[in-house]
Amino acid sequence: MRVQYKQKCIKCKKNYVLATSRSSYVVCYDCQKSSLIGEITDPFYKKLFDIPEEYYKENSFLRNIKVNYLKYHNLTDAQIVAFEKVVQQIKENKE
Ligand SMILES: [Zn+2]
Repeated sequence: MRVQYKQKCIKCKKNYVLATSRSSYVVCYDCQKSSLIGEITDPFYKKLFDIPEEYYKENSFLRNIKVNYLKYHNLTDAQIVAFEKVVQQIKENKE
């Protein structure tokens, strides 16, 4: 398990966000919520991003991947693998 740091959201400078590295760009769920809304028509990505909303709430990495996809409509294989891995980890932590 990687070390996680609590960093203040760079946008509202109010909420804390869990980040895996000190230098990463962190925005809280509330500030990023509007960027997470978008229509996904590709069946593969539709399924990939179909995870409980709370996962996006607690994990900034998952949010960033989704925001990236909605912006560029494409992800690298490494991003897909990392996304699935994090989702799996959250699932296991909850069990
Ligand atoms: Zn914020």
